[in-house]
Amino acid sequence: MSNRRNFLKKAGVFSAFFALKPLEAATLLQEKPRTVRKPVVLSTWSFGIAANTGAWKILSTGGRALDAVEQGVRLVEDNPEERSVGYGGRPDRDGRVTLDACIMDEKANIGSVAFLEHIKNPISVARAVMEKTPHVMLVGEGALSFALAQGFRKTNLLTEESEKEWREWLKKTDYRPPVNIENHDTVGMIAIDSLGNLSGACTTSGLAYKMHGRVGDSPIIGAGLFVDNEVGAATATGHGEEVIRTCGSHLVVEMMRNGFTPQKACEEAVKRIHRNLVNQKRNIQDIQIGFIALNKNGESGAYCLQKGFNYALHDQNGNTLIDASALI
Ligand code: ASP
Repeated sequence: MSNRRNFLKKAGVFSAFFALKPLEAATLLQEKPRTVRKPVVLSTWSFGIAANTGAWKILSTGGRALDAVEQGVRLVEDNPEERSVGYGGRPDRDGRVTLDACIMDEKANIGSVAFLEHIKNPISVARAVMEKTPHVMLVGEGALSFALAQGFRKTNLLTEESEKEWREWLKKTDYRPPVNIENHDTVGMIAIDSLGNLSGACTTSGLAYKMHGRVGDSPIIGAGLFVDNEVGAATATGHGEEVIRTCGSHLVVEMMRNGFTPQKACEEAVKRIHRNLVNQKRNIQDIQIGFIALNKNGESGAYCLQKGFNYALHDQNGNTLIDASALI
């Protein structure tokens, strides 16, 4: 009898567990980490190695995550060899380089610029929007006037190389962006500093040869980037339209809040995007999405829709380029 009672008691615990919503169950299942790793910085794609090196100079000397992410991604914006971010970025269909960027700190301060032309470092304009205006987002002409008033210099962002490529593209005007780094990509960076505070930055020239006026996920807080200092941070790269549809980075952070590891949270967000694509009968082969995530304990994760996405992780053990695992 007592055995039967024990069995019923255990069965009750089991069924109560399975009655929980998945996120509640995940919370119960997650092991508590033993140590908090900090500082840590991670950023998207192979240019993340250079970006992390810049960020690490600040993080390793006790600097603030916000300064680290801004300075880190600026290195990619400044590099004309990187053809999908900042100066030298590929233009839109009309041959105009238009930039999107956003930044978020540990107190949920946010700043963003979109459809910004002629300014080399949109991430710093986004930070100025955050710190010097009562607003969170400026776009186009207004963003440019604000930047100039703040002392940013007007620069021609269309390099000879990018212009040549664009003219070639015009001959075919075949709007079929390849899936990975060849035609787009964003540097998204998230970091935890030695005080345990999180920040993130995200900056891009967006999809190459996009329609003039198109804005992707990268300057949209919650889509291209999200930070919650109690939980973690996430950032996205790839086809911005799909990331916006799911509020991707916010989704990743909310899943971490509910107990998912950063890895599991990235996987769930990619699966949700995949489900949308299937429901919409979209051509999945043409679409790439990648997320990276970091939690308050300094644990990180990454996942992408299809092979080819990598990211750079810098912690006390060095700066490493890692291939993210893929759903497809
Ligand atoms: N997410 C960016 C955009 O849609 C592009 C990219 O990361 O590849 O503008």
